[in-house]
Amino acid sequence: MGRGSSGGKTTKAGYVNKNGQEVVQATDLPGNDHNQVVYVLRCGSCGHRYGANGSDIWQRKCPACGGGAAGLAF
Ligand SMILES: [Zn+2]
Repeated sequence: MGRGSSGGKTTKAGYVNKNGQEVVQATDLPGNDHNQVVYVLRCGSCGHRYGANGSDIWQRKCPACGGGAAGLAF
């Protein structure tokens, strides 16, 4: 029972991680990590939008202004 296996809520639209990166929406594109799809994130500082694996959202940094890795295509 219980649907809270681990960290599912970090992929909900509107979630903002510790680096100020907000989840905009999911896509149906495959990510580059095991069993992941690409999510569209938006930077709270500069507004840059980029794609990220669902499993990376919680720790993602903006590739434009936060020194993060380059975003995935979406
Ligand atoms: Zn930014």
